[in-house]
This record gives sequence, structure tokens and C-alpha cells, in this order.
Amino acid sequence: MSITSFYPPQRTLMGPGPSDVYPNVLQALSRPTVGHLDPTFVQMMDEVKELLQYAFQTKNPCTMAVSAPGSAGMETCFVNLIEPGDKVIVCINGVFGNRMAENVTRSGGVLVKVEDEWGKPVDPQKLEVALAAHPDAKIVAFVHAETSTGALSDAKTLCALAKEHGCLSIVDAVTSLGGVPLYVDDWGIDAIYSGTQKCLSCVPGISPVSFSAAAVEKIQNRTVPVQSWFLDQTLVMSYWSGEGKRTYHHTAPVNTLYALHESLVQLQTEGLENAWARHAEQHLALRAGLEKLGIEFIVDESCRLPQLNTVVIPAGVDDAAVRNQLLQTYNLEIGAGLGAFAGKAWRIGLMGYAARPANVALCLRALEETLN
Ligand SMILES: *Cc1c(COP(=O)(O)O)cnc(C)c1O
Repeated sequence: MSITSFYPPQRTLMGPGPSDVYPNVLQALSRPTVGHLDPTFVQMMDEVKELLQYAFQTKNPCTMAVSAPGSAGMETCFVNLIEPGDKVIVCINGVFGNRMAENVTRSGGVLVKVEDEWGKPVDPQKLEVALAAHPDAKIVAFVHAETSTGALSDAKTLCALAKEHGCLSIVDAVTSLGGVPLYVDDWGIDAIYSGTQKCLSCVPGISPVSFSAAAVEKIQNRTVPVQSWFLDQTLVMSYWSGEGKRTYHHTAPVNTLYALHESLVQLQTEGLENAWARHAEQHLALRAGLEKLGIEFIVDESCRLPQLNTVVIPAGVDDAAVRNQLLQTYNLEIGAGLGAFAGKAWRIGLMGYAARPANVALCLRALEETLN
């Protein structure tokens, strides 16, 4: 037996993530590994923190990157903020809302579900009714950009409602960060998590998170310790902050953090507003082409995600066969439908580096030739 080195094909990634990675981010990944407490590395971590504060539009000192993918960022928010018996309202309009609900019960919280149809945004009126019916609720959680359906919810309004009723908010921004407007401080978001592999166009495996002063206070006043040692923010922060003195908690994924640093520098150089505008523009270009092919969108225009385009698979078309041909002939990956949309929808991602004219053109040409 002789297994040799692995060389992956050069794909164009236009699914729900991972997205195409910036070439300079891939280069950053291969720079020499240093120790996770090396003074130069610690300085770079401080820069990552500052760059994340910019990306999230927050001044929260408790802003850092969890050493694991978006799902671990989700879990970090829930296990740190929920104490056993806490009532948590979760707004569900797709797969990731359901995962939030699962996190609530596994963290010992009391779950209250507010459900909306797939493809629709979270309805603030339903949340208001639930908040009135559950005055003892402590937390409201929802997904800003539901990647399973392509719907964008009104995070500003939902967080304001949570605050009015004395609740902290947990927001999933895995797909929204870098792709659509997001203002953590202005919108009063208390806990937020994202991922590196969607609109940041970095490699998968890291999850940026940020906690408001009110969230940090709740964590510090816990009467029972966080059930997860690895995700306990009070421990992790002793590695991510502290003047001059950092304590070992776990070995940071050193090179992956170089990559995150590079992708955040890229975002800073482009400018957040410009990145949002680019996603919107490329979405309109893709939409125009898809409409010419007679392909229809599932989500209403008013709440469509530019970075995740959910479209109806045309009648009589073999879903798997088309996606397989796109991959084999064009090295192009688009996403299958998830959950309720399996077999009914395609999810075409325009995330980060993938949101550019060459990708839109390739996707339209490949779909047109394949469908013919
Ligand atoms: C991708 C995604 C996640 C999970 O992120 P992983 O990096 O796959 O763990 C969570 N929430 C949303 C909305 C996502 O799109």
C-alpha cells in the first residue's frame, strides 16, 4: 500500500459554505507555525480581536474567536448564557433555528419555540406575543441569515423587542457577517457568533464571537459553572485577553488564526459597506441571469439574502444529476436543499470571494448548458 499526498481539485465553491477562500488567505495559512504564547502571536491575536470588533461593529472587549467551527460558536453562546431552568425563546424559521432549540434543552434551559414558515423571516409580532406570554423569559435567540432557506430576519427589531422585555439576545450571524449590514452595538445584540467559512472567505474551523457587557455580567454571576470546560468563556478569555499575561487554556489553531487575520485584513481594506454593496450587486447580476433561464426564487424579494440564493429546481429536472454534472464538468459546487427544501431547491452561494462577476458568469453559463 502506498498512499501519497492529497491534492484536491480546484473547485469553485458556490454553495452554502465553505465558500471560495481568498488566495492570500491560503498563503497566510502556510506561514511558519509559532508557539501559541509567542509574543508575536499574542500581538496578532489582539489584532484579530480589533478586526473582529470592526467586522461586528462593536466595542465589546469580550470579542474573540472560538477554536472550532460555527456550530461551536453557537454552543459557546448557549452554554455560557443559560443556567439550568432559564427560559429561552427561540425563533425558528429553518434548520439552524432548530439547532438553537436543541442547544437550549441540552444546556438545561426551558425552551419556548416561536415558529415561522421556511423561507419566511422571523415574525416580530409572534415574538412579541411569546414575550408577553412568558414574562419570566431570560433570553431570545434567532438566526439573522437562515442559510437553509435564504431568508434574512430583522435583527434590529427582534433585539429591541428582547431588550424591552428584559431579555438578553443571542444572534446567529454565521452567514450574515460580512455579507449584509450588521451592527452589534447599535442593534443591542448581547451574544453573537459567526463562522470563518461563509462571507469571510476564510478556511472552515473558527468561530468569531462577541458578548455585550450585560452578557458578560450574566456569565460572571452564574451560580453553576458552565457545563463545558472547553467553551467556558471565563476560562477562554484568560487566554484571549489580559495585559501582558496570557494563560494557557488550549493550543490555539495557530495557522488557521493567521488565515482569519488575513481575511479580516482583507475585509478592513475593502471596507464593510463596500463588501455589503458588492454582495448586493452580484446577487442582482445572478438574479437577472437566473430569471432569463426561467429559474425562480423561493424567498420574497424583501427579505432575500444576497449571499445565499435559494431557487426552485425547475420541473422535470434531476436535482442530483445536475449538481453532479456541474461538479464534474465545471468544477462548480452549488448547494442542495436542506430539510424541508431537500430535492425542491438549490442554494447558490455568493459568499465573500465568491461574490464576483467571474463566479456569477460561470454559474449562469454552467447552469444554462447543463439544463439544456
Ligand atoms: C454554516 C452555519 C452554521 C454552522 O457553522 P459550521 O461552521 O458548519 O459549524 C450555523 N448557523 C448558520 C446560519 C450557518 O449557515
